[in-house]
Amino acid sequence: MANNEELFKKIVAHAKEYGFIFPSSEIYDGLAAVYDYAQYGVELKNNIKQYWWKAMVQYHENIVGIDSAIFMHPKIWEASGHVSAFNDPLIDNKDSKKRYRADVLVEDYIQKIEDKINKEVEKAKKRFENFDETLYRQTNQRVVDYQKKIDDVSSRLAKLLNDNDLVGLRDLIIELEIACPISGTRNWTDVRQFNLMFATKIGSLSDGADTIYLRPETAQGIFVNFLNVYKTGRMKVPFGIAQIGKAFRNEIVARQFIFRMREFEQMEMQFFVRPGEELKWFNYWKEERMKWHLALGMGEKSYRFHDHEKLAHYANAATDIEFDFPFGFKELEGIHSRTDFDLSQHEKFSGKKLRYFDPETNESYVPYVIETSIGVDRMFLSVLSHSYEEQTLEDGSVRTVLHLPAMLAPIKVAVLPLVKKDGMAEKATEIANMLRKEMMCQYDEKDAIGRRYRRQDAIGTPYCVTVDSQTMEDNTVTIRERDSMKQYRVAIDQLVNSLKF
Ligand code: ATP
Repeated sequence: MANNEELFKKIVAHAKEYGFIFPSSEIYDGLAAVYDYAQYGVELKNNIKQYWWKAMVQYHENIVGIDSAIFMHPKIWEASGHVSAFNDPLIDNKDSKKRYRADVLVEDYIQKIEDKINKEVEKAKKRFENFDETLYRQTNQRVVDYQKKIDDVSSRLAKLLNDNDLVGLRDLIIELEIACPISGTRNWTDVRQFNLMFATKIGSLSDGADTIYLRPETAQGIFVNFLNVYKTGRMKVPFGIAQIGKAFRNEIVARQFIFRMREFEQMEMQFFVRPGEELKWFNYWKEERMKWHLALGMGEKSYRFHDHEKLAHYANAATDIEFDFPFGFKELEGIHSRTDFDLSQHEKFSGKKLRYFDPETNESYVPYVIETSIGVDRMFLSVLSHSYEEQTLEDGSVRTVLHLPAMLAPIKVAVLPLVKKDGMAEKATEIANMLRKEMMCQYDEKDAIGRRYRRQDAIGTPYCVTVDSQTMEDNTVTIRERDSMKQYRVAIDQLVNSLKF
């Protein structure tokens, strides 16, 4: 799907036109990088959250959920390192006055070379029969050179970020001759660090320290509740705590629709393990999380792992699950082995012991942690963009269809009277009222039947049920499937069992 700008624009427009996502505060011209979920969007989003919650909490005996507050004691963010180090390197172009993330400018440069490689591969694929892509990538001189450049720039970027070398980062941008996409010039300011946390005031702290932060991640709410959950839930290591909730980051460059927002939602799970066993569990969760994604049926090719070269100071292993968005492969989920960093820091800053007593070894220790962290909104975008298709039908007409995984679809079934006479509308209403008790169901009698099918295709409804004159005679209806557009009859009393999710 790589770098398909046209397609991406269409998906964004579709999300608005069909009631999935609206820009926030639109009648006041919007608010950058903030979005509202609309009537279908909220259903899809809730279904994504439920799919995650079931897989993590319901299906795992040793994982429980919590819902901690967004406001937390400000010391938490000192302990976690967010006050001093949750920064992005920022650079301005002096001509366009546009602001960029310096590391992203270099990443975009790398992406452009990757696009060139992909183009070469696509061309060669068409030219040769029995094309061996791996061999081609290893032997074609141009591709080899491109790849060398990518590897070189990637590892230099990783080192500069690791060393916090802001001067070096600027030098790299100059050396690679990266220009501002707006002004086209290379007239750059110095690179500066910018803290991403939103601060606000709270009136009730006795010590007068009244600045608090909107949480930039949900994870810390889990760590500070570790002891409470472990004691009250009688949990035994290894065990996990899961949470879904809002997070806030003052992102420097907010773009790509709901991929990078200033207010977003995360689904995070922290898994507490015995020290020394963390890499085993890291690999376990890497596999588990990939399986979870693949079970949605959006294809193996849509995902890849990206192991981190630059590890955060507290991590001893980290990988991203990247998704093939219309703008290329980008992070969808992070899986991190965070050692005992977070709990140890909270021990230090709170003065409370955050230890687990292991009855098997008779030892007390600070558990190690594996984190899985995925953005609800990025997941939403991955599902939406993968599902969108403009399909040319046999008669030459085009239908826009969302092939959403049925279990995530906002509306599961629509009930449509073929025409509004001979009691069909009443019958269809009766059926819709019956189905509504089991699943999200919509009744629609307006416009010709073909147009009504198209409306349901556009919001991804997997099934339409049509009431026609035969229904009035033998109590059967037609089921029409969204993807195949096949139609078949079933008895009304078999209807609920016939609709599969
Ligand atoms: P990126 O490098 O893209 O900024 P990150 O590495 O900072 O992401 P994490 O801190 O690991 O992200 O957050 C975990 C997950 O939360 C990410 O994988 C992503 O799905 C989601 N996420 C992070 N920042 C945003 C954002 N600004 N908008 C939407 N989702 C986000």
